[in-house]
Amino acid sequence: MQFESGIDFARKLDDIDPLARFQQEFSIPTRPDGSREIYLCGNSLGLQPKRARDYITQELDKWASLGVKGHFDCDFPWMPYHEFLSESSAALVGAQTDEVVVMNSLTVNLHLMMVTFYRPTRKRYKIVIEDHAFPSDHYAVESQLRHHGVDPQDGLLLLKPREGEELLRIEDIAALIEREGDSIALMLLPGVQYYTGQLLPMAELTQLARGKGICVGFDLAHAVGNIPLQLHDWNVDFACWCSYKYLNSGPGSVAGCFVHRRHAQDTQLPRFAGWWGHDKQTRFRMENRFQAIPTAEGWQLSNPPILSLAAIRASLDIFTEAGGMAPLRDKSEKLTAYLQFLLKAEVGEFISIITPEDPEQRGCQLSLCCDARHLSGRALFQRLEENGVTCDWREPNVIRVAPVPLYNRFEDVYRFVEILKTACNE
Ligand SMILES: *Cc1c(COP(=O)(O)O)cnc(C)c1O
Repeated sequence: MQFESGIDFARKLDDIDPLARFQQEFSIPTRPDGSREIYLCGNSLGLQPKRARDYITQELDKWASLGVKGHFDCDFPWMPYHEFLSESSAALVGAQTDEVVVMNSLTVNLHLMMVTFYRPTRKRYKIVIEDHAFPSDHYAVESQLRHHGVDPQDGLLLLKPREGEELLRIEDIAALIEREGDSIALMLLPGVQYYTGQLLPMAELTQLARGKGICVGFDLAHAVGNIPLQLHDWNVDFACWCSYKYLNSGPGSVAGCFVHRRHAQDTQLPRFAGWWGHDKQTRFRMENRFQAIPTAEGWQLSNPPILSLAAIRASLDIFTEAGGMAPLRDKSEKLTAYLQFLLKAEVGEFISIITPEDPEQRGCQLSLCCDARHLSGRALFQRLEENGVTCDWREPNVIRVAPVPLYNRFEDVYRFVEILKTACNE
């Protein structure tokens, strides 16, 4: 698509945007003067779907009027409530319904998955992650190694960009797999890297690693709701994601987990168990012999927080109404390409973009390195905030900007770049 500068062009893009109406589904934060923020921070906390309040209120009302009976005879009974989220979650990640479950939080699920899928032997005991992994993932992996008596110095293989580069090269990952493959038990990588915004070729990497007998997990915190996924067909072993970023389900809301069917059906796989993972027919016999549900639900521990699941249901219903990830990705690619176009045209001398230029190698986020006339990167970021832009700052020198197709408009992107341009020239 050929972009033009000027606000009229931004408005024209908004006019022809088939998803424009979805912005009204969300509460956009306002500034003290009542004007709307330019919210480009959906990669950190997605905005509130207005209907989340109704969905949560319904559950509060049920609790008030039905008490414990809310588990059974009513609309959306609590007992199977998590099941109402399976179909739409599965659609978002390209899974069969029995391969996904909404439970716990992201880091907890990473641990639960590693309990099952990281089973080191004397020969095969190493874990591959990226050098710049999200700290929680790094801590989780390192503690799993130590838990099994493996020294991270020996057992942790860190993928680094080449000297002077920011992005991971696929050929370097392939070379590591080739070189060390026989000693690697698990490869845990992000779908979209949180800092650079790089989208990794998950299908290709999964095939490479599994060819060497390596178990493959993905952290999809920055991928789910951002890019289309095909976890089942890609043959990924497991994946975990949180729901409060691009899934707009509220701060700290319950996370999601994928276990490929070829594992999920194996009820003998070792795991940490709890009663919610036990066979539903016999769960309430309260017997001591654990029998796993032969789906991803078999990894559940506890009965889930319903108010949080209600918010997730509200959000997932919007994804379904929008037609799923295909139309969203379509708009997302345009929004981000337009952002890139304006950045180059208006502030090219001050800003470099570390996110890949190729749309196939990124989601909606662009990560910007800033070198303004007088302001430091941090001061520039503050200037953006003072002028009603919400985006985020990551040490040492990156501003992350994430235009989201469900609630951002092309005009938001235009106005963001105008504000950035003024600040850069200060
Ligand atoms: C956001 C994020 C987390 C956060 O973990 P929680 O357990 O939800 O607090 C972890 N890993 C990655 C890659 C993230 O982007």
